[in-house]
Amino acid sequence: MSTRSPSLTLVQGDITEQAVDAVVNAANSSLLGGGGVDGAIHRRGGPEILADCRDLRASRYGRGLPTGQAVATTAGRLPARWVIHTVGPVFARNEDRSELLASCYRESLRVADELGARTVAFPAISTGIYGWPMDDGARIAVETVRATDTAVEEVRFVLFDAEAYEAFANRVG
Ligand code: ADP
Repeated sequence: MSTRSPSLTLVQGDITEQAVDAVVNAANSSLLGGGGVDGAIHRRGGPEILADCRDLRASRYGRGLPTGQAVATTAGRLPARWVIHTVGPVFARNEDRSELLASCYRESLRVADELGARTVAFPAISTGIYGWPMDDGARIAVETVRATDTAVEEVRFVLFDAEAYEAFANRVG
């Protein structure tokens, strides 16, 4: 069986400005907003996204969205059709949580496939407030997306600063 693999592109910039089918949010399990990417997405996307998140909490995720899982909402006013919210693991020195971080990328692509999304923008999940070292976060992101069978045609990694861009560029080659 042949594995379909998306092309990988890198952009230094703001994920809320990406015109793609789906934008991935580095959310927290409450789904009710936070800082970093999450704050930017809700600010730029407007209140419709939060309204969808509240509905999801009421219907399916009363205890919060578990780490490593993903779920879609509207993208509100963002130039995208959907936001896919995923909860990255908090980095821990005494425990290997790599599989949970890989799961965020895999599950987001699975949800993208369910939606029929062909272009998906990812931030560097867990590398901000959640403290994951950028080089390792980039390695896991690139390896996992390359190993995932998906109908998504383009995965765009949107990196906020030059250091993050370099880390991803080193992995994409
Ligand atoms: P987490 O809680 O998963 O660590 P953060 O949102 O704090 O999520 O950070 C994830 C990564 O996204 C960090 O590398 C951060 O610098 C970057 N980032 C923050 N804001 C934006 C944005 N608007 N667009 C793209 N990347 C962003």
